[in-house]
Amino acid sequence: MARKTVLVCDSCGSEVDEAKGAVMRVTYTDARRGAKQADLCDTCAGKMPGRAVARRGRKPKSALAV
Ligand SMILES: [Zn+2]
Repeated sequence: MARKTVLVCDSCGSEVDEAKGAVMRVTYTDARRGAKQADLCDTCAGKMPGRAVARRGRKPKSALAV
């Protein structure tokens, strides 16, 4: 029997279902400080500050020269 890993939200402590939740990664501009990350449930992820980031590798249509 494989032991199921239970992911717990680092913000509210509730269990996060597989295929749900999010990982928030904080990378300091000062590289010496490294980075940290938190596992979040969907609810907490939505409450976190931040903005939507476009996926890499493809320019949005509006940026294409016509
Ligand atoms: Zn949470």
